[in-house]
Amino acid sequence: MSLIHAEKLTKTYRAGDVDVPAVRGVDFAIEPASFVAFVGPSGSGKSTLLNMIGCLDSPSGGRLSVLDTDVATLDRHASAEFRGRHIGFIFQDFNLIPVLTAYENVEYPLIMVQNWTAAKRRERVMNLLHAVGMSDQADKRPDQLSGGQKQRVAVARALVADSKLVLADEPTANLDHDTARRILELMKKMRDELKTTFVFSTHDPKIMREAEVTFTLEDGRLAQNNSAAQHG
Ligand code: ADP
Ligand code: MG
Repeated sequence: MSLIHAEKLTKTYRAGDVDVPAVRGVDFAIEPASFVAFVGPSGSGKSTLLNMIGCLDSPSGGRLSVLDTDVATLDRHASAEFRGRHIGFIFQDFNLIPVLTAYENVEYPLIMVQNWTAAKRRERVMNLLHAVGMSDQADKRPDQLSGGQKQRVAVARALVADSKLVLADEPTANLDHDTARRILELMKKMRDELKTTFVFSTHDPKIMREAEVTFTLEDGRLAQNNSAAQHG
């Protein structure tokens, strides 16, 4: 069974009196532990698709199954719970909490995990900070970190609650090319170690090549030249 499965998936926004078709009937499947990119120009529907997979937005039509759950049927409360339990997010502008240290930002999702001791929590956070190469910056606040360092913290935060799926919407858009490549290498390394599925979006052709599977969006539709999975 695929980790994510979409069939004739559509999303139409209503803007005033007009319908804006953002996603127009896409079919795809994403396997566990894969490293997948949705690519395409601005406005092609990448964010809309990632937001539906992440239960931040609901489909207008078709079917979408994520981790064997038909996410279209989840109400507000259930989708928030589903997200908190299973999905990590990485954003273009990092979205770290400015008043918290790197350590506290990574710890933050664990507030939802009630049954952990303080010691287990600390060990988990430090393991993740170490894995992303940020253990010696644990006490710094976001404004004391570079863009690449902030995104490393965000990768750790996305993984700390043991998510099975990480969604990253243009995670490298605010980084220079070398830093962007290193962030992708880091995400791939974390996929290898933790078997977490990473799905990211990008419109940068140099970054798309780092993906093992690419789905190309054009005006809300998938193009024909999508590459099949090559990892394993
Ligand atoms: P991308 O992430 O590839 O740049 P988006 O998914 O953000 O593309 O947008 C796809 C299309 O949907 C665009 O035409 C955009 O203007 C439109 N769109 C996105 N979000 C909304 C919204 N909340 N309301 C109306 N139209 C939207
Ligand atoms: Mg977008």
